[in-house]
Amino acid sequence: MALKVFINGTLFDKDEARVSVYDHGLLYGDGVFEGIRSYGGEVFRLDEHLDRLWDSAKAIWLTIPMTKADLAQAIRDTLRANGIQDGYIRVVVTRGAGTLGLDPNRCSHPQVIIITDHIALYPDELYEKGLEIITVSTVRNHPAALSPRVKSLNYLNNILAKIEGLQAGCIEALMLNHKGEVAECTGDNIFLIRGGRLSTPPNEAGILEGITRQVVIDLAREAGIDVREVPLTKHDVYIADECFLTGTAAEVVPVVKVDSRAIGPGAPGPITRDLMKRFKAVTRG
Ligand code: PMP
Repeated sequence: MALKVFINGTLFDKDEARVSVYDHGLLYGDGVFEGIRSYGGEVFRLDEHLDRLWDSAKAIWLTIPMTKADLAQAIRDTLRANGIQDGYIRVVVTRGAGTLGLDPNRCSHPQVIIITDHIALYPDELYEKGLEIITVSTVRNHPAALSPRVKSLNYLNNILAKIEGLQAGCIEALMLNHKGEVAECTGDNIFLIRGGRLSTPPNEAGILEGITRQVVIDLAREAGIDVREVPLTKHDVYIADECFLTGTAAEVVPVVKVDSRAIGPGAPGPITRDLMKRFKAVTRG
């Protein structure tokens, strides 16, 4: 059976699910999206994802033509129609079909798209051995130009960084902000551990406020770990005892090498392992 894709209230077979080539989502990256997980048929942190989607839309003057409750129901219905228990959900809201000019007021109506599928996580091996990443030269978007807090369809900033990482043989890459501080990776937030204390860049560093990031902050605090959202530099990364990344797709993944320097002993550390275990307990019971 072909996977069904929701577009504006209708479920289409995957190959029949289409939007116009005049859609400003395609022409200009004008739109917003969310990546969400389902575990055992339950949508993980759905309210948080919907709030972020609405905030992103508001920031770009895009009105989502549904209520949060209706979109939540549509997400659950699409998952069920596809018989997906453990999966990945992509919600996309485009500006809609317009003219070839920029003017969003000439777009007819936003397209609300829900794709539910299975996720290709990093290979299991990376969760045991840890990831090697590099710092790339692509600077994270200046928050005063296009805030990284807006999860927009224009991901070129991240894609350029990803390409740089891939060229160097790394599947994830660390991006600095315009001040030279650590911001985040191309699709994941970053955490450091030193002296038993957890730190991660604050919103003001120009990051996407990750839902997984917040889950991990809460789990760490519950475990009695001191967590700080503070500006960090590459130096802090290099001298960290442990490092890990968080994201909806990646979940919690250890980092053992940055810019050819081993982090701690060059193997996933005990606090990272503990938080991975706690995260698994929250998502898989
Ligand atoms: N930063 C960026 C740039 C991302 O694209 C993502 C993944 N959506 C994240 C961080 C992690 O956010 P979340 O935990 O909400 O998936």
